[in-house]
Amino acid sequence: MNDATEDQEPSVVPFSSPIGKTPEFKEPFDLARRLTHAVWVYDIDNCRNIMANAAALRLWKAETEAELAARDMSIDMSTTVAKRLKQYQSGFIENDTTFKELWTLYPHEEPVSVDVVYTGYRLPDGRIAMLCEARGIAEDAPETLRSAEALLHTDVMISLFTKTGRELYMNPAARNTWRSEKTHLPDVFVNSSDYDSILSELELRGEARRVLQIKSDAGLAWHDMSFKNCRDAATGGPATLVTAIDVTELKHARDRASYLADKDQTTDCYNRAFFQRHLEFLGSQQRNLPIALLYLDLDRFKQTNDKYGHEAGDRLLVVVSERIKACLTEADLLARVGGDEFVILLSGTDIPAQVRGRVDQIQKTVCQPFFYKNNKIEVTTSIGVSVIPAHDSHCAKYVRHADVALYESKRLGRNRSSIYTEQMGRIADQRLQAEAELASAFEHGEFELHVQPCVDLCSGKVISAEALARWRHPERGLLMPVDFIGVCEETGLIDVLDHFVLEQSCELVKRWLKSGLKIGLSLNVSPRQFLDDGFIATLSSHAQHPDLKNDSLQLEITESVLAEDQDRVAERLRSITALGFKIAVDDFGTGYSNLAYISKFPISCIKIDKSFIDTLPTSVPVIRLIKRLSEEIGAQTVAEGIEDFTALGTVFEIGCHCIQGNYFSPPVPIADFQKAVHLIETQLEADIIANLGLKR
Ligand code: C2E
Ligand code: MG
Ligand code: MG
Repeated sequence: MNDATEDQEPSVVPFSSPIGKTPEFKEPFDLARRLTHAVWVYDIDNCRNIMANAAALRLWKAETEAELAARDMSIDMSTTVAKRLKQYQSGFIENDTTFKELWTLYPHEEPVSVDVVYTGYRLPDGRIAMLCEARGIAEDAPETLRSAEALLHTDVMISLFTKTGRELYMNPAARNTWRSEKTHLPDVFVNSSDYDSILSELELRGEARRVLQIKSDAGLAWHDMSFKNCRDAATGGPATLVTAIDVTELKHARDRASYLADKDQTTDCYNRAFFQRHLEFLGSQQRNLPIALLYLDLDRFKQTNDKYGHEAGDRLLVVVSERIKACLTEADLLARVGGDEFVILLSGTDIPAQVRGRVDQIQKTVCQPFFYKNNKIEVTTSIGVSVIPAHDSHCAKYVRHADVALYESKRLGRNRSSIYTEQMGRIADQRLQAEAELASAFEHGEFELHVQPCVDLCSGKVISAEALARWRHPERGLLMPVDFIGVCEETGLIDVLDHFVLEQSCELVKRWLKSGLKIGLSLNVSPRQFLDDGFIATLSSHAQHPDLKNDSLQLEITESVLAEDQDRVAERLRSITALGFKIAVDDFGTGYSNLAYISKFPISCIKIDKSFIDTLPTSVPVIRLIKRLSEEIGAQTVAEGIEDFTALGTVFEIGCHCIQGNYFSPPVPIADFQKAVHLIETQLEADIIANLGLKR
């Protein structure tokens, strides 16, 4: 209670009554004023001494009561003291308690330590004030006074208990936490075993330190607590000194940080980092049970994201994680380890036998439609499974096994699960090797373009050519797309290949135009390249080149691309044709069979797939149909894979005059192309036209 003087009128309030008691004196202040020891009344709410007898005025170094009442005691009052006074007030109200404590007052900034007894008094307006009786000025040594004062003001909770846990002393900070006079130490711990462990350690070492959850009057809290065996200075009996600081906020911040470090924010599943650590932990354990490891990947998640937005994608991830959780037991674990990838660890005695059933159950539960803003989105998932045997400490390799099995599920058409086998592992190793080899092939410029002519039987001329990628392998010789396109697509190296082919094709067309060769070039565009966001920009930069006549370039896309998001595809196709490039649909008739779309898109050429040529004459009606369809939409029809004269005659009869096939020429290196063109045109002149009865 530090003092301060203010020029304000004192608000002396008539004395009312001790709480709960009927006043026995009409003027109790008079009685108080007659006492020889200091007595004063402190208004806790307004921080004023509203009455003081002569001894109290001497103690406070005040001339008059009015002068003392004018002092605002809140100035320079420490928060601990302010809290302590509020505590007193509650104590008065709740239990009519009397407190006795050593306080240091600072009248005119001079310290006076006094033993004071505090009692509650109700003021006429109903509020509770504090009647203070000084029981004598403490005349201890300065050191004692100082330590008593420090004990009073510190935020550190200091308390003393008997060996049975009965409270002997609490400083104000501790009293703030436990207001009841008789706190029983064993009762403050949320976890009763904490007290037992502290007792054992005290017995063993004489001291203990813990961060513990405790019950305080304000609710549950976390305290950093130290316990020490000592003696009660008053009785000499054995006691426990307890010091504590409240670390609740710190603990919550730490818990939150570790929660954030372990959990995925979107789905509330564990994240990759946690999963990795957990796997290491499993490896370090002597497990005598196997664990099934599932790698789960949502099929076509990107499409949901692209079509309905990221919010829908996130919602789907949450729903999927909830569906998975519904299939798990306490002993299992779920982590989200990538965009749409989850890892599940299934524990159980009979895992190898049960694994199929549990995986099927998860798959069935996850693969339910998902509704988002009135849209029904079909959900399917591919799963790869491996089993980590008991006692095996190399858990990481089973993640790869599950990944290999997942790949197998995808390869087999998705929406299924596969359990890892050694055979799968071998194939995966080969694929890995192929990937490394391919990457190095791109680096060393081992790729080249070959071109295959396309002949117009009516004019007898080579009207265009198709650019086809080849890999000139240093040991295995010239490799066909079938040997590398698949790996390129799986590994993403298709981007590199696509880029190479587009660059080379543009250069080739420029060269041909320069040398007066008016032949269009058709190049294959992978679905990935077609749907890539930067593709139109790349095409546009090529289109601006003055040496490139854009209608000499045709982009071949497959039917599967057209089956993607139709609006997006239509917009892309329009952008491409607006740049002047032409569009062909490759391998027509083998893929998506909804013909309604074909008239919507700006298509200038349909290429009949070789499989129809191979199945002639059975396929004649289909080829006829395709030809009619092409005519309807004003597109050219090209018959691919013509190897012999019979096939040539049949397609010619149907009306397909544009022919690409080994009959005329297989794909040849660019350098040999002009020679091939010359040969074809000469041969046409001499031979074919006569045989087909063509007139020019
Ligand atoms: P595609 O686009 O349908 O190409 C036609 C394929 O048919 C070529 O095979 C060609 O050599 C082959 N072919 C043409 N006439 C005949 C014939 O009379 N008999 C036989 N047996 N085959 C014939 P290729 O070069 O092996 O290419 C296969 C596929 O690989 C292509 O089919 C295309 O889908 C893909 N591809 C080739 N080059 C590229 C490329 O640069 N980029 C992309 N994304 N895909 C490419
Ligand atoms: Mg093609
Ligand atoms: Mg084709």
